[in-house]
Amino acid sequence: MKDLTDSLSKLVDKIRGASHIDEETLKEVLKDLQRALLKADVDVKLVYELTKSIEEEYRKEEPPSGISSKDYLLYLIYNKLISIMGGETEAKVELTKRPYVILLVGTEGSGKTTSAGKMAYWFSRKGYRVGLIETDTVRPGAHDQLRQLAEKLNIPFHVDPNSKDAVDIALKGLEKMRKEKVDLIIIDTAGRHRNEEELMKEIKEIYNAVTPDEVVLVIDSTMGKQAAAQAEAFNRNVPINSIFLTKMDSTSRGGGALASVVRTGAKIKFVGSGEYLEDVELFNAKKFVQRLLGMGNLEELMERMKSIEEEDQVLMELSEGKFNMLTFMKQLESMTKLGPLSKLLQMLPMTMLPAPMRSLNDDQLEDAQIRMRRWLAVMRSMTREELMDPSVLDASRIKRIALGSGTTPKDVRELIRQYELMKKMVGELKRSQRRLGRFIKQ
Ligand code: GDP
Repeated sequence: MKDLTDSLSKLVDKIRGASHIDEETLKEVLKDLQRALLKADVDVKLVYELTKSIEEEYRKEEPPSGISSKDYLLYLIYNKLISIMGGETEAKVELTKRPYVILLVGTEGSGKTTSAGKMAYWFSRKGYRVGLIETDTVRPGAHDQLRQLAEKLNIPFHVDPNSKDAVDIALKGLEKMRKEKVDLIIIDTAGRHRNEEELMKEIKEIYNAVTPDEVVLVIDSTMGKQAAAQAEAFNRNVPINSIFLTKMDSTSRGGGALASVVRTGAKIKFVGSGEYLEDVELFNAKKFVQRLLGMGNLEELMERMKSIEEEDQVLMELSEGKFNMLTFMKQLESMTKLGPLSKLLQMLPMTMLPAPMRSLNDDQLEDAQIRMRRWLAVMRSMTREELMDPSVLDASRIKRIALGSGTTPKDVRELIRQYELMKKMVGELKRSQRRLGRFIKQ
């Protein structure tokens, strides 16, 4: 197996190809996962913890109804990898002080200078004033490259082609950028020297002299296994805080990046996806893991799992007697997902329906359907706070919601009335359940 990505794709194929997940297949899949991660130099302890927690979770519960054991296992693996890579939310980027200083490190050719420009572009677009400093005295052309990027972005920069003293360039650059009153200073460094020791020595010296707020390691996603070793080498010399992953527009899937994240404990923040300045985006762990596992077509499964989890949550809240407009909305949403109301009513035994609904004609059904859709539009225009506690809805909020949902304040009030009625019914149901419970216990 070539690298992590290959072996993980094979693993996904193996799970998908199995007729079902029996004890033997489960063991085999977990072993393959361990082997793949260990081969990619992921830390042994982490590999065992990871597979153990997947196994435990898999054994703990039956898959939700409608989800096969194969899909459930895939889902657990997928979720675990996402949590290692930083979780479901997008990477967070904050400048906690002014000026904020970023030191960019990485091997030559990884895309460091290009990524310095991309970060400058990204922050400039957010309204920050950014300055660039080039301290690479080794690679010919580094100065010109940075100068061109800065001129294109129309931002201040500092280069000194006549100096061979990287620390001195960095300090002079900092002074100049402070005078320019920038919010963010990005310092580019060399990626190659006579030998690795020289390179690390210089980077350490720059680090000690400028005491940056963040050290960003640039990793080429096409590098595979080597990436982790390089990440570790840099991390031994300066503490790596975050990662900029480049060349994700290539066919590579970024297996080396996973191992680098694990080795350094740093999270990926930015992703480069092309040669232009605009080809930069915030890292998204979900997208990354899908690509890593070669499972673009698993999106639909993940959506299904998510909606099952949401429905479970609503049911749990209902069973606990928690009823608010959010629960009401989720119920209406799942009802509309089941198809037209007339079909839904046909599926229910007559005795389950409240008397007025047993004799609805087609027009009345159509009318009820329209009202349900209108209510959903109204609730979707409410804030979460309003859904959780509709008692805050005063005249001005009602007016805003009506406007936002393309309905009238009268419609909004009708929904609130209906909701109050439902809430009362749920409350009564709960009380009668409790009475029944006491009766049974007696
Ligand atoms: P440095 O030596 O680390 O400073 O690397 P450079 O910034 O000079 O980049 C090396 C090469 O990689 C250049 O040809 C860049 O255009 C290219 N490059 C950098 N980032 C990306 C990227 O995200 N996608 C692609 N396709 N090429 C990139």
